[in-house]
Amino acid sequence: MTNIILLGPPGAGKGTQARRLVEERGMVQLSTGDMLKEAIADGTELGRKVEGIMARGELVTDEIVIGLIDEKMKSAKGSGFIFDGFPRTLPQADALADLLDRSGQSLGAVIEMRVDDEALVDRIAGRFTCGNCGEVYHKTTKPTAKEGACDVCGSHDLRHRADDNPETLKQRLMEYYKKTSPLIGYYYHDGKLAPVDGLAEIDDVAKSIAVVLDRTAAS
Ligand code: ADP
Ligand code: ADP
Ligand code: ZN
Repeated sequence: MTNIILLGPPGAGKGTQARRLVEERGMVQLSTGDMLKEAIADGTELGRKVEGIMARGELVTDEIVIGLIDEKMKSAKGSGFIFDGFPRTLPQADALADLLDRSGQSLGAVIEMRVDDEALVDRIAGRFTCGNCGEVYHKTTKPTAKEGACDVCGSHDLRHRADDNPETLKQRLMEYYKKTSPLIGYYYHDGKLAPVDGLAEIDDVAKSIAVVLDRTAAS
């Protein structure tokens, strides 16, 4: 059972690849972004607390996301966790190491999805998701087969994220470079970093990730 982190800027393709790994390998996707968006949609106290922060493209506190991850790790069952969009700061990375340690688990690999900023702007501008099942699409690189309907569940509830606009994206990228990118050096020195070319086609990125996973499982 291998636990991995998908590390990369907004729009790098983390969610897209995580969903494939769930489908193909029965792994468990733990996306703090999705958990927070769910809290907002449910109108919970947590949701109200984070709504404004997320709309501005800033990071929510470490305490909140560590709490969410801790809770889910206790209840979720599957063959390995995919940490998607977590950790995003060094304190979160330390907390994750503790949580894994405490449950007798370890981190197999940190997959760094490399995509340049120019491509990110285009990816975020074209991204839309299914409100029912969460499938991720893109208006040019991954359109639905039938206009206006989700390929997976048939829902017509296709949505563009409120925070996927040029101004918020800029803020999210700044947060990434200031607070999250130091994790690349951290995991490199931890011997866990596995960079993949995130600019390749979705199927090819999936193949690169599969190579890392199989190598990690064998070692
Ligand atoms: P993307 O898919 O664009 O990388 P996410 O869906 O992962 O974005 O996250 C959306 C927002 O949720 C972030 O802009 C941030 O406000 C908040 N968020 C998600 N994960 C974290 C985290 N680990 N730490 C702090 N804030 C987070
Ligand atoms: P993240 O979770 O890292 O923010 P997503 O998985 O949501 O990123 O992908 C961002 C957008 O880019 C989506 O519209 C998705 O369909 C598209 N996308 C993802 N991977 C690729 C790829 N390898 N090539 C082209 N487009 C991609
Ligand atoms: Zn759907």
